[in-house]
Amino acid sequence: MTDKKRLVIEQFPCLSDNYGFLIHDTQSGQTAAIDTPDAATIRKVLKQRGWHLTHIFNTHHHPDHTGGNVALKRATDCHIIGPAGEADKIPALDEAVDEGDIVSFGATQARVLNVGGHTLGHIAYYFAEEKIAFVGDTLFALGCGRLFEGTPAQMWESLQKIAALPPDTILYCAHEYTQANARFAIKIEPDNVALQKRCRAIDKARAANQPTVPMQLADELATNPFLRADQKSIRQRLAMTDANPVDIFAEIRHRKDNM
Ligand code: ZN
Ligand code: FE
Repeated sequence: MTDKKRLVIEQFPCLSDNYGFLIHDTQSGQTAAIDTPDAATIRKVLKQRGWHLTHIFNTHHHPDHTGGNVALKRATDCHIIGPAGEADKIPALDEAVDEGDIVSFGATQARVLNVGGHTLGHIAYYFAEEKIAFVGDTLFALGCGRLFEGTPAQMWESLQKIAALPPDTILYCAHEYTQANARFAIKIEPDNVALQKRCRAIDKARAANQPTVPMQLADELATNPFLRADQKSIRQRLAMTDANPVDIFAEIRHRKDNM
C-alpha cells in the first residue's frame, strides 16, 4: 500500500442536499465521520465498507452537522471532536478544539482552523499532508455560508484563511449548492471566462447527477465571487471601486441572500 492511498475518503449524499464524509486510515483502521448529517446513512456506509467508526469531527453545531452524534456514539463509542466555541451545543462532545490545534488521526493529522462566521465557533480541518480540507458550511463551491451568527468582517477573515492554503488543496464542503451558486456568481462576474467555463461544467455534472464536491481551491480563487471581493472586476461591477474588501464581501453576501 502506497503512502498516498493511506487515507480513503468516502462521500455520500445525506438528507436533502448535505454530503456525508467518512475518512479511513488504511494503516490503523481508524475511521472518522466529518459531521453527522444522518446516523442511519453513515452506519449503512460503514457497514458496506466494513469500517468501524472511531471518531467524529464536527465543524459546527447546526443539526444537519451534529444530528447523528448521539446515535453514532451509542452504537460505536467513537471519540467526538468539535469546535470549542460551540462546545455547549455539540451533542456528546468529548474534545473541544480551536484554531491551531492538531487533531491526530491514524498516522496523519489535521490542523484546526477557526473559520467562524456562518456560526461563531465554526472550525475546518486541514490535512496538510494529504492536501485536503473539510470546510463545513464556511466555503461552498462558488459560494459561502450564510452569516447566521457572525459578521461580514469575521467571515471575510475566515475565508482568507482558506484562501491562504496551497492552491492545489482539495476542499470538501457540506452541501451540494453549486448550481444555484453558479447562477448567482455569473451575475456578479459575467465576463469571467473561467467562471463561464465552470458554470457549463457544473450544469453538465448536475444533469448527469454527479456531485460538484469536492473542488480545488485554485478554481475557487479564480471563480468564487466571495473569495474575489477585492478583485478589480467585481469592484467595478458593483460600483464600489474604493470600498474595502469587507464591505464588498458584505454587499455580495447581501445580494445573494436577497436573490
Ligand atoms: Zn450550517
Ligand atoms: Fe449545513
